[in-house]
Amino acid sequence: MSRFFSDKYKSLVPYTPGEQPKSTEYIKLNTNESPFPPTEKAISYAADAAKRLQLYPDPEAYELSGKLAQLLGVEREEVLLTNGSDEILNFAFMAFCDESHPAVFPDITYGFYKVFAEINRVPYTEIPLSADLTVNVEDYIGIGKNIFLANPNAPTGIALPVSDIERIIASNPDNIVVIDDAYVDFGAESCVPLIKKYGNLIVTQTFSKSRSMAGARLGFGVACGELIRDMNTVKYSTNPYNINRMTMAAGLGTLEDEETVRERCREIIACREYTACELERLGFELTDSRTNFVFAKHAGADGEKLYLELKKRGILVRHFNSERIKDYNRITVGSREQMECFIKTIEEILEASDEIR
Ligand code: PMP
Repeated sequence: MSRFFSDKYKSLVPYTPGEQPKSTEYIKLNTNESPFPPTEKAISYAADAAKRLQLYPDPEAYELSGKLAQLLGVEREEVLLTNGSDEILNFAFMAFCDESHPAVFPDITYGFYKVFAEINRVPYTEIPLSADLTVNVEDYIGIGKNIFLANPNAPTGIALPVSDIERIIASNPDNIVVIDDAYVDFGAESCVPLIKKYGNLIVTQTFSKSRSMAGARLGFGVACGELIRDMNTVKYSTNPYNINRMTMAAGLGTLEDEETVRERCREIIACREYTACELERLGFELTDSRTNFVFAKHAGADGEKLYLELKKRGILVRHFNSERIKDYNRITVGSREQMECFIKTIEEILEASDEIR
């Protein structure tokens, strides 16, 4: 740390992204990317946009917002596109949370919520998940704090029904509720329709997972016009050109290829079920994942050792050191071929079980 680093950031523990190896030899199942490339239109529109990179992009993302709103069944004024959904989550912390409006989220959830709370100096409480790693809805009823919930949750993959989330939103009318829908396209129910009914709800989504655009950084929030305007004030006070031209064009192409996206989600779900069945056959215990990853532990294997053995054999998965989930690994659902190779490798590791106990 330099002697110039501001006191306000000295104790900050930054978010640790999953490994991004320089070599392409790994089967990469550690950051929940899509096994599919961007759609054809995404690629061709982005290539075309590259020819106009001398010009700033449209700060309103007018065309993309319009198309997205139409697909979601909301108004253009009810969406805000951002540089990945991480940015809209940060905007929500910046715009709505402070000393007198603290935040609350589960103890096991997306690690960035805590970092955003810290960097924005927002007091926060982490509510323990139940022993079976589910969110206990009653904990959030009338809690009187700004709530951040990933649904499905990460890294557990477990989803709440929208009816439960609605109870949480309705019981906290003086606080905002942010529902992070990052993995919703893999079998959970979206809360987007509820924005018409609740002026305190923000739903965030991403193009990084189901839409195969993690490398382009595109996400968005959906909420009533007033909340979107507040977050736009934050956006225009930090980076009005938050989405570059190529990303915006690729986003539009992806939305025009919506059928392809839906078909690929179905394939990923089928491959998740294959992976889950095979892991259960090998003695793993899994959560009920509604995402593009599985979360699994084995009574006969140490979570970290298993992660390291897989890495030695060229397969990257995500292991978290935190006490409650250190027995688990989070495994992104890749292509069928990748998952068959993963299962074969796991079988080999379990056979040589001395290394992983
Ligand atoms: N929410 C959750 C629950 C996530 O797992 C991720 C991915 N790391 C994000 C949000 C952010 O995704 P992105 O910024 O790529 O849209």
